[in-house]
Amino acid sequence: MNDQPARSAPWSETDGVFLLRSVATAMVRLSDIASPGTFALPYPDEAQRALNNMVLNCLMLKARPPESLPHLVEWAAQRPLDRWPITLPPDAVPPGSLLLDKATRQPTQLCYEWAVDAEDSGARYSEQRYMAAASSRCREENYPEAYQAFRLLLVRRPVLTHRELTTIPAAADGDLGPLVDLMHDVYQPAPAGYLDRERRSYTACARCHTLLHLTTEDGLWCERQRCRNLDTVRRGREYQADDGGGVQLLIRPLRQWVSEPGAMETRLARQLTAIGADVELWPGFGAYGMRVRLPDDTVLAVDHKDWASPALLGRRATMPSPDPPYDRCVWVIPAARLRDQPAFRTTFERYRWSASPELMTDRELLRAARQLPETGRVGTRYADSGDEPTGGPF
Ligand SMILES: [Zn+2]
Repeated sequence: MNDQPARSAPWSETDGVFLLRSVATAMVRLSDIASPGTFALPYPDEAQRALNNMVLNCLMLKARPPESLPHLVEWAAQRPLDRWPITLPPDAVPPGSLLLDKATRQPTQLCYEWAVDAEDSGARYSEQRYMAAASSRCREENYPEAYQAFRLLLVRRPVLTHRELTTIPAAADGDLGPLVDLMHDVYQPAPAGYLDRERRSYTACARCHTLLHLTTEDGLWCERQRCRNLDTVRRGREYQADDGGGVQLLIRPLRQWVSEPGAMETRLARQLTAIGADVELWPGFGAYGMRVRLPDDTVLAVDHKDWASPALLGRRATMPSPDPPYDRCVWVIPAARLRDQPAFRTTFERYRWSASPELMTDRELLRAARQLPETGRVGTRYADSGDEPTGGPF
């Protein structure tokens, strides 16, 4: 009936899982306040707690503990997680992965994924409270155009000058209506780690338009894996530090969980439209990423999910709200992710809680969509019947 790998029971909340979440949260917290490695006593509570827990864990495992918080930061930037003295469920961390980027000491994407896995800090480091606020304000005022303009602005303009922020209509494609206030929460003055002190300027990535971070060797680094996969850094727009009253950067959770998938969704939407699908981005005030009516009339709810950890992604596998309704739901990952991590799909399947959504690469989705005949409706909508549809490539 199904050829998916057998699923393990969801992982128990082992000490190792708690500990890794605690260290990841500490690294994210430290990156908020300073360049890790330059902070001073007293350490933030989260960081001190993570250090204490780590030391205790090492003593129990008879391993050599980190001697100080700067030492723990060095572990995070130098020692792959699969070589930490932590007992974790199988495949909980991708081999060779780090919590901090070596060249910038900035939290990696994986570090944020672990931080949002923690219940007590998850809301703080995820995009959800901002996006939920945007959604409910626009829903209350029945203003879907403002919601769409907001999402597009976050995708296209992760960097704004202060003047652009205060004259939003000039930066956005449409009227942001009730969301103007929220803009001042989600855009913040660009942190010092991005500033070239000699030139007194910030440089944006030519590919994704977010700011490039300075490396410890005076190079430039893009936080998006997709940009880093493409040979060298490409310099885009340069902002003088005082341009337009100062440079504002979209906060990291929104860059990671909204801008980046949004850029992939807009690209996939264009590709699907080109093969005859009818696509609506962020329908139902962001109920899911895109609603796709395929040439055979099947309706998909599609979300782009480019996660570093297939285990943590699997733990989040749930179906989106059925408003607006759909026949099937699909989580799309970039084909490059599977090339880099051949066990991605197997690990995701092992850790998922529910049979839906289906996991596909962008290429698989496009290939399957191209093969569809243009026929009438197939399947039954989840929202109408609660039954799973059968048959066909979707
Ligand atoms: Zn980039």
